[in-house]
Amino acid sequence: MVLKSICVFCGSSDGARPEYAEAAADLGQRLAKAGLKVIYGGAKVGLMGRVADAALEAGGEVVGVLPTLLREKELAHEGLTEFHEVSSMHERKAMMADLADGFISLPGGAGTMEEAFEVWTWAQLGYHEKPVGFLNVNGYYEKLFSFIEHIVEEQFLRQQHADMLLIEPDAASLIKACQDYEPTHVTKWITDKTR
Ligand code: AMP
Repeated sequence: MVLKSICVFCGSSDGARPEYAEAAADLGQRLAKAGLKVIYGGAKVGLMGRVADAALEAGGEVVGVLPTLLREKELAHEGLTEFHEVSSMHERKAMMADLADGFISLPGGAGTMEEAFEVWTWAQLGYHEKPVGFLNVNGYYEKLFSFIEHIVEEQFLRQQHADMLLIEPDAASLIKACQDYEPTHVTKWITDKTR
């Protein structure tokens, strides 16, 4: 499938190291230059703002989806190509997922984790066949990947479903991996018969 858009999940903070903001800007710029529309949470804060600003500056299209509650807190990015105000976080995630042909997570906190895990879970269940990638800036996600290995060892997750995650240290490689992605078709449930 030829990708036209990528949804970026990332921290609403900048994090402790300048490398995170640099990686966010680099990703935004490269997505724009690759002609990929950026779908994201619509805020101007943290890494979210960095991705959007960099993509817009590079001439790309950026679509924001923000719930009313967060808009009222004046977190909205005012310069986006397209802006959708929605009533809930659930509506927001559903809209971002529908609009995007693939997903990339930069470093982030609980919000980023839940967004990434949701689209990964939906891929396992066969609700979509879109690539799910992590930009492992400075090894930020290493501990998460160790835990995912533990989940596989304990047989709550298939190795094939762990392997479907695309993990790269830089934006160029991750965008390429998303473009080349071939979906896996394996049933989610691990039972005595499918072990
Ligand atoms: P976190 O990683 O906890 O900072 O959360 C970032 C992710 O959750 C983003 O991808 C957003 O979709 C959502 N989110 C969390 N906090 C905010 C916020 N203050 N403004 C907009 N979106 C947010």
